[in-house]
Amino acid sequence: MKRILVTGGAGFVGSHLCERLLNEGNEVICLDNYFTGEKRNIAHLLNNPYFELVRHDVTMPYFAEVDEIYNLACPASPIHYQFNAIKTIKTSVMGAINMLGLAKRTKAKILQASTSEVYGDPKVHPQKEDYWGHVNPIGIRSCYDEGKRCAETLFNDYHRQNGVDIKIIRIFNTYGPRMHPNDGRVVSNFIIQALNGEDITVYGDGSQTRSFQYVDDLVEAMVRMMATENFTGPVNTGNPNEFTILELAQKVIKLTGSSSKIIYKPLPSDDPTQRQPDISLAKEKLGGWEPKIQLEEGLTKTIEYFKNLK
Ligand code: NAD
Ligand code: UDP
Repeated sequence: MKRILVTGGAGFVGSHLCERLLNEGNEVICLDNYFTGEKRNIAHLLNNPYFELVRHDVTMPYFAEVDEIYNLACPASPIHYQFNAIKTIKTSVMGAINMLGLAKRTKAKILQASTSEVYGDPKVHPQKEDYWGHVNPIGIRSCYDEGKRCAETLFNDYHRQNGVDIKIIRIFNTYGPRMHPNDGRVVSNFIIQALNGEDITVYGDGSQTRSFQYVDDLVEAMVRMMATENFTGPVNTGNPNEFTILELAQKVIKLTGSSSKIIYKPLPSDDPTQRQPDISLAKEKLGGWEPKIQLEEGLTKTIEYFKNLK
């Protein structure tokens, strides 16, 4: 039995990961400050004697004896990470330093939940891991993008300097049950608007694209990445099927049977126009991993979750 620390474990992705790791017979410490995470995401795990919940902020050091660390603590949606930009960058950078220090002392393997945002508004399409990105260092998304880029630098420096066993995955837009209902991300926004019969708010003309990965496919990639030998990444994980935001709005309307109308709102600044992962490295290094759940199936499961959300 391994003892595994999941920072940000009460969040959307973290809660699915904790569940998976417990199901595989591990002991899980879920660490969270509940900024965007919620106890209801992990309430069903609390009776498991191998699950431990810790209220803690990763900007402060944390001490425990662990075998593996998944570092997910960081607000992920633009509304939440821009709410307190300085705190966001502190969470990424100081959180990485604290968790890498823990990994160094305990000789634990450590996986960083990085992001496709390290590519910024990419000039290369689709994005491969060797693309260095096109990122605005002083814009409203920079606290997140540059924080995550700096965390990747720290991970690699701890690896080179201290031999820490690091793993970096770059996550592209991921959705599914337990997304925060108010986090403003496009999938949750559209589903909630459609279920409430409200207007669907497409920003810009809706021609910008995203590739949407269902959360179970991401968790599978994370677990496989942690199990790799002599591979640090970074590796992209995402679903390469690309959709315009307008297509997404139309799909959500169709699947919910909603009478909602599409309305157009201004495009936020620095909003990337195109994003699509190249996942050939993930396929090669993660034992043939590829996404299994396509958009309509994943949206249907997510719609079901939001319908039942009290
Ligand atoms: P989320 O907001 O649901 O989860 C983040 C969790 O971290 C929350 O539970 C939050 O309370 C916790 N947290 C935030 N700051 C903290 C701090 N200082 N100390 C301790 N806990 C803190 O978001 P998510 O979608 O589950 O994202 C999880 C990770 O995956 C994040 O690191 C995010 O950057 C990364 N990621 C997610 C996506 C996506 O599409 N969901 C895409 C790219 C990267
Ligand atoms: N978006 C939108 N309507 C919304 C929320 C988001 O049109 O109600 C757009 C947003 O401008 C972006 C895309 O959907 O082009 C994805 O936004 P999200 O915040 O989910 O993720 P990110 O921009 O980080 O990829």
